[in-house]
Amino acid sequence: MSRQRHIKGTPVAPGMAMGPVHVVRAARDRVPTWSIPEQEVMDEVGRLHEAIDRVCEELESRRVVVAEQANEQDANILAVHGMIVRDPSAISEVEKRIREDRLNAEACVQSLIERLVSSMSGMDEENIKGYAADVSEPWRAVLEELMQTEKRDFLAGGEKVVLAASELTPQVATALDRDRVLAVICETGGRFSHGAVLARSFGFPCVVGLPNLLGRLEQGMRVIVRGDQGTVQLQPTEEDVDSFLVERSRLQARAEALSTQAGLASETPDGVRVDLSVNIESVHDFGTFDINHSDGVGLLRTEFLYMERGQFPSEEEQYRLYRRIFENMGDRPVTLRTLDIGGDKQLPYFDMPKELNPALGWRGIRVALQWKDLLRVQLRAALRASAHGRLKLLLPMITTLDEVLEVREMVRELRIQLLEQGYEVAEDVPLGIMIEVPAAVFALPQLIQEVDFLSVGTNDMVQYLLAADRDNPFVGELYDPHQPAVIEALSYIARIAKAEGKPCSVCGEMAGDHMNALLLMGMGFDGLSVAPNFVSEVKYAIRRTEMRTAEELFRAAALERSRDGVRRVLQDASERLMQVTAAESVKGELTPEQSLGEETGQEEGGA
Ligand code: PEP
Ligand code: MG
Repeated sequence: MSRQRHIKGTPVAPGMAMGPVHVVRAARDRVPTWSIPEQEVMDEVGRLHEAIDRVCEELESRRVVVAEQANEQDANILAVHGMIVRDPSAISEVEKRIREDRLNAEACVQSLIERLVSSMSGMDEENIKGYAADVSEPWRAVLEELMQTEKRDFLAGGEKVVLAASELTPQVATALDRDRVLAVICETGGRFSHGAVLARSFGFPCVVGLPNLLGRLEQGMRVIVRGDQGTVQLQPTEEDVDSFLVERSRLQARAEALSTQAGLASETPDGVRVDLSVNIESVHDFGTFDINHSDGVGLLRTEFLYMERGQFPSEEEQYRLYRRIFENMGDRPVTLRTLDIGGDKQLPYFDMPKELNPALGWRGIRVALQWKDLLRVQLRAALRASAHGRLKLLLPMITTLDEVLEVREMVRELRIQLLEQGYEVAEDVPLGIMIEVPAAVFALPQLIQEVDFLSVGTNDMVQYLLAADRDNPFVGELYDPHQPAVIEALSYIARIAKAEGKPCSVCGEMAGDHMNALLLMGMGFDGLSVAPNFVSEVKYAIRRTEMRTAEELFRAAALERSRDGVRRVLQDASERLMQVTAAESVKGELTPEQSLGEETGQEEGGA
């Protein structure tokens, strides 16, 4: 069969990897339906039972792990899920359909799911609707199991794989077994979608926007992924493999050279400190990076702690998690962002309304201020944990001053309540806001009076400023932090923060690119928070760029009238930085080939 061997998509997370592909066909993509001849009906019923058995085994092994972590509530839910898929009446309903309608097991399980959901959704009580979601969930696992028999056989080998999916949703990303994944490639998705943010944070090379990708792949097909170029090479030849290996060892050497300097201070040669912190999503992130290389956690996206569970974590559970994070970070600050759900970040156990424009809808602080108990529980847990570290509280998606005042008052009251109840709470817990919504940019002179620090979420701010959905590849070209309007907005924020003497950092993905980092520094931002695997690269650039040079870079970029013009300015500056690197190679610090702008390689999976 003749195939196009190179596919070009959108680069999302750098690095390169080679390995066998593992295609995930999510059950919701499409449920295949086909007729079964009479003589195959028993085989089909057998397939159903095998899938049920495997789901039960999987649920049980997950239950044991969760129970060991003393997460009793989730362990109970998993046990109940096991009972649901073993329910004889549901099983006989599916068997009956297979026998009488002579349809494949997938189609019959899908009918059961639809019946379960519709029989409950007519009821008013919220908790009954939640129950309906729970009853159908384990059956969805059976459906996925039926649709992924191929995948299971393939995965049995325990090989590392390049994961291919139609879309990298945050749900898919959080469920990934990080030790098994070499790279992630997807048909849709944007550069700054939350799934992409996670891939970068986990350190996988990732390419999205690869139309009809799944149609071109076969399970186990070998591919080469170049995350920085946004390309996927199918069935590489021997020659392709050789050049991959050469390139990879060069990049690995460079990564090692950079990491030897990563423990040094984040400081320009003329002595200006730039706070360089990390963005993390989970306690699992600890151990994947060296905390001594950063100045703290600049963004803890707490919603992922909620996504990893089967129901809302209790105050006690959150307290223990946050305390572990604070203790890990020692005296370095941890900026805990309150729950930022909504849009593409859904909790499986929380029924959010279906919205026409989810990005403009019920998300972030808007949810928290409507479901105040959620926020109270989280704030109490965080304040209690503050006795064990340096907590900074950060509020997402702030649009109005009233939102800030309401949360500030809530924090004040909770603090008093906790002290009265005999808990220890840190004396000083700075309160900051994310600047993501254009209204917050314009309201900055008022907002800044009421907060202790600012953190700019460029991933969202860029989408709202340019009215270009961060998840939508059709507007992926337009969505760009180098658009002059974005540069103008960012420099305005930095200027106001400086004038008011308030710390102001950028925690959006753009800060993880070393040239963007210099641009932001030149604008006047005093902090950057980046995915852990970008720390050494950004620090290297900071340590080689005088503040005056960064300011010149910003001034040159601000004069440009187009995105391409801004990119050109950055590219020229990047070449100058490479010359510094080349000069250093004379001293043996880095070779010219190990210059900035290149990325690290991933271990090859498989043989
Ligand atoms: C942002 O919007 O830039 C940000 C850091 O938040 P998130 O990516 O989680 O929306
Ligand atoms: Mg955001």
